[in-house]
Amino acid sequence: MTGFAEHLLDWFDQHGRKTLPWQANKTPYRVWISEIMLQQTQVATVIPYYHKFLGQFPSVDALAAATEDEVLHLWTGLGYYARARNLHATAIKVMADHNGEFPATVNELMTLPGIGRSTAGAIAAICHGTHAAILDGNVKRVLARYFAIGGWPGKSQTQALLWDKAESLTPNNRIADYTQAIMDLGATVCTRSSPDCPECPFFKSCHARINGTIGQYPGKKPKKTMPVKSTVMLIVELNGEVLLQKRPSKGLWGGLWSFPECVSVETIDSLLQSLKLEELERTRLPEFRHTFTHYHLDIEPVRVSIRKTNRIAEPGVEIWFDVTAPHPIGLTKPVTKILAELPASRAR
Ligand code: SF4
Repeated sequence: MTGFAEHLLDWFDQHGRKTLPWQANKTPYRVWISEIMLQQTQVATVIPYYHKFLGQFPSVDALAAATEDEVLHLWTGLGYYARARNLHATAIKVMADHNGEFPATVNELMTLPGIGRSTAGAIAAICHGTHAAILDGNVKRVLARYFAIGGWPGKSQTQALLWDKAESLTPNNRIADYTQAIMDLGATVCTRSSPDCPECPFFKSCHARINGTIGQYPGKKPKKTMPVKSTVMLIVELNGEVLLQKRPSKGLWGGLWSFPECVSVETIDSLLQSLKLEELERTRLPEFRHTFTHYHLDIEPVRVSIRKTNRIAEPGVEIWFDVTAPHPIGLTKPVTKILAELPASRAR
């Protein structure tokens, strides 16, 4: 075992987290769900979602048998919805191709939707004790600082260097503890903005700490100006219900439910016409910005109350959504925000 692993495991024995919900009864299913939820999301945010998700889908067959709407509904608010769609797709594949058992090797795990090399490594190491390295965001930060590896970790050259280090440090013994330990160190001590170096087992050996250059690692993503797009979201209201449409399963907000949209307020009339709806009253609500990884979206919500209609929502594509008794479907973040503010906007 390397000195690095020994130091880390000693620290883990004293300070590591051992009571996280996915650390009890470690099955590949439970670890997989936690690993996917923890991508881009903090532990404290993940815990209530994890309990709710496991409560509704306690096993891979229960998840495979669910509808995509049910899965997306439980994911509402966590963001990066491709994760939820991939979870569902993977559960179906595990049932169909692997008799309901998760494969044990990194290579096989990587064939499942949404499981990359690091997540596969974590599942293999934690659940099967396989000698496999991981390199999630926390581990990248610890290794970049420890070895003073410059460059943005998203760059393939930097990433390859970090993987080399991760592989060479991973011990043969206590692999599950080591995997948990290195994630814990990044999450609790070597944090992004205020690393607690005096509490770190690598205080004496960390290159960035010794050189006083911690702030330089990991290297920042090269800045580029984000484009700005805009849209009008139409909140069509009738008897306390609003019209929602299901987005195509591929692409932005795939499979989630959202308001009908048009490019500008000038095109609202033709949108209503195409929906065969007759407007009674229109109110423009405050505009706000939603930021994606690659662009900003300026959203102008417009509330339109309509004349009573016999038009029936097309099943599976449209829904009249009762705001006071919501359906279990996945909503986009802007829709959740607009719906939460709807009663106040009515009072204006
Ligand atoms: S010494 Fe500080 S910067 Fe280096 S790994 Fe530990 S916490 Fe991170």
